Amino acid sequence: MRFGFDIDDTLINLREFAFHLYNKKLSKNIDLSVFKQLTTVEIHEPFGLTKEEGKNLWNTCRSEIYFSDCPSYPLAVEVLNELVQKGHEVYYITARNKEFSEQTEKWMKKAGFPVEKNHFFCGMKDHEKINIIKNLSLDYYFDDKPAVLNTLLETNITLYVRDQSYNRNWKGKRLTNWSEIRNLL
Ligand SMILES: [Mg+2]
Repeated sequence: MRFGFDIDDTLINLREFAFHLYNKKLSKNIDLSVFKQLTTVEIHEPFGLTKEEGKNLWNTCRSEIYFSDCPSYPLAVEVLNELVQKGHEVYYITARNKEFSEQTEKWMKKAGFPVEKNHFFCGMKDHEKINIIKNLSLDYYFDDKPAVLNTLLETNITLYVRDQSYNRNWKGKRLTNWSEIRNLL
């Protein structure tokens, strides 16, 4: 089987990591329960920032958010390695900017994810992911954004949303813990 994965907020806990970082940078102490109720992918609102200010802060902190020590979700690394050991193929499709491609691939390897040559794709827009995903003839695809999954509804790919507070309206299959993949096989 061929498995495709988005990275941010699907395999790694990026927004929560950034939320802690924002608290530190802005000398605030906004509770994690606020984060857990956000209905937007963006996290700036509880900090009293405008959309523009939020965008600027994200871009200023981006390298630190991406490449310091953002944790992966529990069992994500283990389960993806198990897939490869069982002979399945694992692909990554991330819409991070192209300029971060090489560093992101390295970071994923260092975090313990199995990344084989030519199995890592970076730098497309969300709505362009479909082109890569179709070319790879994936059997399964996992993402946190309904906007991405919605572009794939007409394909035969089995789609899963990685549960997040902003995607609870997604009606399809939902994964809340990576151990659930073990039941698929
Ligand atoms: Mg994502």
